[in-house]
Amino acid sequence: MLDDILDYLEHIRERPVWQPIPQDVRALFHQSLPKEPTDLAAVHETFMQDILPFAVGNAHPGFMGWVHGGGTPVGMLAEMLAAGLNANLGGRDQIPIEVERQVLQWVRELFGFPETASGLFVTGTSMANLISVLVARTAALGAGVRHQGIAGSGKRLTAYTSAGAHGCIAQAMDLSGLGIDALRVIPMDARHRMDAAALERAIAADRSVGLTPFFVAGTVGTVDVGAIDDLAVLADIAHGEGLWFHVDGACGALAVLAPDIAPRLEGIERADSIAFDFHKWGQVPYDAGFILVRDGTLHHATFASPAAYLRRETRGMAAGSPWPCDFGPDLSRGFRALKTWFTIKVYGAEKLGRVISGTCELARYMGRRIEETPLLELLAPVSLNIVCFRYRSEEADRVNADIVTALQESGIAAPSTTTIDGRLAIRAAIVNHRTDTSDIDALLRATVAFGEVHAKTAQPRKAP
Ligand SMILES: *Cc1c(COP(=O)(O)O)cnc(C)c1O
Repeated sequence: MLDDILDYLEHIRERPVWQPIPQDVRALFHQSLPKEPTDLAAVHETFMQDILPFAVGNAHPGFMGWVHGGGTPVGMLAEMLAAGLNANLGGRDQIPIEVERQVLQWVRELFGFPETASGLFVTGTSMANLISVLVARTAALGAGVRHQGIAGSGKRLTAYTSAGAHGCIAQAMDLSGLGIDALRVIPMDARHRMDAAALERAIAADRSVGLTPFFVAGTVGTVDVGAIDDLAVLADIAHGEGLWFHVDGACGALAVLAPDIAPRLEGIERADSIAFDFHKWGQVPYDAGFILVRDGTLHHATFASPAAYLRRETRGMAAGSPWPCDFGPDLSRGFRALKTWFTIKVYGAEKLGRVISGTCELARYMGRRIEETPLLELLAPVSLNIVCFRYRSEEADRVNADIVTALQESGIAAPSTTTIDGRLAIRAAIVNHRTDTSDIDALLRATVAFGEVHAKTAQPRKAP
């Protein structure tokens, strides 16, 4: 099994990025519960034949869809060790939790947070953003909110983020019971950053009608174009108004590792909380999200609860309090910290930073190649590692959607789509450390080739 998966990673470039799943393969996974055992070798053979070839392909250098990390063999092997140990990191006195605390200490160091800041591995930034909303809610209403509920306070909390923010910020408002309508979506400026003046106006308008503004979420690396909000300005506004300042840095926050990009994140060190993923730019295998909270006491007060079976002691296995389960909703938790610790130890922070810089350099290369190609046009400035462009055509939206499907089905490259100023864009997010200029060239060559084919195919007209 180890040989096969290492071969897969070593020769991944020779494979299609993704391929459509044949019906008979899909049908293999609709069987009833196996009662009898099956030989391990046979199950592994099924994995090789019917699972491995039909994954989404984000380990492949040609994968540029959405924002997915590439993973590494080091992370993979560490995950194997973690699974063998089968550690449960909810609590108790064990070195695996010290490994998680070690990573927390590195994270504090990276973002200039104090020793009293708390943090936790979670599935991903979606969960991390939810935790930040819940802690900010405790800050605004007091820990009594956990008993009385938000309605009990009589206050109506409102939050603020930009139109470029990820949908999971709205989801966090929904799940926390504050409601999606209590999230104010602030327009963006020409550089796709939150419009600071509009933010101030929205806060003032809400206050004037008796609402309670409590939370501002800035973004480092917006999903559409990779824009970075002006965090220093947002920190000034949020703290000037007494609001919680959160940063969604799912992909982008780890750019603090890259000396050429880090200055653009200025202000992140003033955040009250930061959500980010090691599984994107950090190249740690899925999943490895992280939440960092400046006020560890408040974070603890948001989640800790007394339970007789979780009683703490000063000696024995029940020592070592507080435990990770006191800082989030999960009691049973896997050893996500190990693959992250291995990745940072083996590659070192500088090398991880160089990978991040390298993907941005590739994005700029891609931007230049697009500008040199008359059949293509850029739809947004290349700010970070995301390139939005399209094939020029009179029916551009339809043609470019067809091109992206054709690219994905060809196995040559896998970009995704987004909408920029109402226009459908081909979106390439370069996150994978394996991607190089040859992958960019192949994507652009195939885009032009498919564009020529699809621009000629007349759209079948709908009957009136
Ligand atoms: C990916 C992403 C998220 C969601 O993170 P998950 O790890 O997928 O939960 C949130 N915000 C931004 C800006 C993202 O890029």
